Amino acid sequence: MNRTEGPEATEDFLARLSRAARQEQFLHVVSRDEAAARFRAAIPHAAMLAETVPLAAALGRVLSADIASPIDVPPFDRALVDGFALRSSDTLGASQAEPRRLGLNHEILACGVAPRLAVAPGTATAIATGGVIPRGADAVVMVEATELASGDGPLAIDLDRVASPGQFVGYAGSDMARGETVLRRGTVISAREIGMLAACGLGTIEVVRRPRVAVLSTGDELVAPGEPLPAAGIYDSNGAIVAASVTENGGDPVPLGIVADDEPALEAAIRGALSDCNVVILSGGTSKGAGDVSHRILARLGEPGILVHGVALKPGKPLCLAKAQGKAIVVLPGFPTSAMFTFHEFVVPLIRALAGLPPREEESVDAVLPQRMASELGRMEFVMASLSRGREAPVAVPLSKGSGSVTAFSQADGFFAIPAARSGIEAGERVSLTRIGARTRAPDLTIVGSHCIGLDAIVGLLAERGVRARTIWVGSSGGLASLKRGECDIASMHLLDPKTGRYNAPFLTPALRLAKGWGRMQGVVFRPGDGRFAGRDAAEAVSALVRDPDAIMVNRNTGSGTRLLIDGVLNGARPAGFWNQPRSHNAVAAAVAQGRADWGVAIESVARAYGLGFLPLTDEHYDFAYAEDRAQEPALAAFLSLLAEPETRAALAGLGFAIRDTTP
Ligand code: AMP
Ligand code: MG
Repeated sequence: MNRTEGPEATEDFLARLSRAARQEQFLHVVSRDEAAARFRAAIPHAAMLAETVPLAAALGRVLSADIASPIDVPPFDRALVDGFALRSSDTLGASQAEPRRLGLNHEILACGVAPRLAVAPGTATAIATGGVIPRGADAVVMVEATELASGDGPLAIDLDRVASPGQFVGYAGSDMARGETVLRRGTVISAREIGMLAACGLGTIEVVRRPRVAVLSTGDELVAPGEPLPAAGIYDSNGAIVAASVTENGGDPVPLGIVADDEPALEAAIRGALSDCNVVILSGGTSKGAGDVSHRILARLGEPGILVHGVALKPGKPLCLAKAQGKAIVVLPGFPTSAMFTFHEFVVPLIRALAGLPPREEESVDAVLPQRMASELGRMEFVMASLSRGREAPVAVPLSKGSGSVTAFSQADGFFAIPAARSGIEAGERVSLTRIGARTRAPDLTIVGSHCIGLDAIVGLLAERGVRARTIWVGSSGGLASLKRGECDIASMHLLDPKTGRYNAPFLTPALRLAKGWGRMQGVVFRPGDGRFAGRDAAEAVSALVRDPDAIMVNRNTGSGTRLLIDGVLNGARPAGFWNQPRSHNAVAAAVAQGRADWGVAIESVARAYGLGFLPLTDEHYDFAYAEDRAQEPALAAFLSLLAEPETRAALAGLGFAIRDTTP
């Protein structure tokens, strides 16, 4: 850990920050294409050498060379049914009225038996499915087409129909011929390919070596998942997602864990990784934070060192691409969405090429952008978006969680680009959404608005009925605006109209309808044991606290239903903390629980989850708005009927919500 306390530490921090800001950083920001070109020119994007693995270990590996079958498959002509091998010419004229009699040879050709006797004219040999066709025979008849001849003479069969030449015979090499190329290099070996390789008799296979990719996370604040989270700690999510993505793209991740922002420790870790691995991926430590040191280390690991530091890309500007000791070193930005985005753009192509895999297939869909998206001129911006079924064409709903979000990348269906030369994309313009991951279609139902754990439960019940719903949390007003723009099917909302004192309905346009949800108790939250709340109700506590200069509140964002409630409670007052306006109940509860604020307004279920004290204010209405002309669409209809079912209402009551009449 770096020293973080005392006047000297502060001075040191400020000096480093201003030095970083003035000179070292991003002197030469290049375009995305220029960055990719430099990286490709310095680092060969070609398959690694081959290695031999046993067939049993070949699943998921990539063939390094074409495979020609060393034998015929099947290796001999064989019977395809249980019956008798014979000469087809002996069967001419056979019928039920005039069956043909054939003498039986004293041999039974079970599987694995090599024939000793030839089939002479007028004879047949009993043969099992898979048995070797004996010399002389050219056809097989099914046992069902024959009768054992009666009488005391030598064993014989009577045949009641004609056999055509080649009937029920599988010829040698008909499946795979000796010397035939049966699999091509670059093929990923699945269970099906394993079957073919085994049938050719191959016990070992030549495959492309997997590139060993070191994965390191840097930052004093990082904590490994599974460990307790200290104050100011952040779980290392980049390490896990990068390692998994390396595997998904044919590499062999070597997880090296978390390294602190300590120059000697980080340098030792990078040097160790370089000697042991083919590629080194770090995340964090490229931006202007004074503790971020990795780019300085890269400059002294060997020629040519840093290839690119700073790409005119959003998200992902601080990306650093380097080469030392003949190997690629990539420092991804620390913010998870930036890290994953730049990983997919720059690292995935390299790992796939090293692993012998073809480039990732890029699939794109045209979608309409429902609202204007502004963008910085001179920087190519990629916007993560979710697909929703629009009225006419699919709609791309931008996920505005920012590059610090883990879920923006994980929950997006894809991304679209805003070119560097444009300052934005207008509402209604078409964008081309490049898909990421395996998700291939828009969800059946898109719900945008305010979050509630009761809605989480409903989405779970819908999934059990085969309806895939996507939820995007942007707050009540954002959800309603999104519904009016036709981006989503449902807006989840709790907006109080101060004039009428009614919830939600006053905000709808004539084309919209409201489905009644449930009531959520809103109240003042505080840390248990805070004497300022003892013996007071919510109104009394608030009126005392707004006059107490030591009491800090936490507010909510404009446009949220809770904010309207808080405005009513404050009645024009602006106590300390008024401008701290997070966007969710959880953020309010966390601020109070962690002591950054003393009170705020949140719903009871959240207060309970954080172990906070709670003074009830009002029972707010959490409802669902939808467009009337779409109510018959199957997924929306399923939602509306599920919402009204008694079992659903009982489940919601069990979660602590107030259930009222369901009629709007
Ligand atoms: P940095 O690039 O090191 O300045 O980090 C930028 C932001 O990303 C900071 O908020 C970090 O806490 C966060 N961050 C860095 N590394 C990781 C990681 N491995 N997992 C999750 N968040 C990270
Ligand atoms: Mg850092």
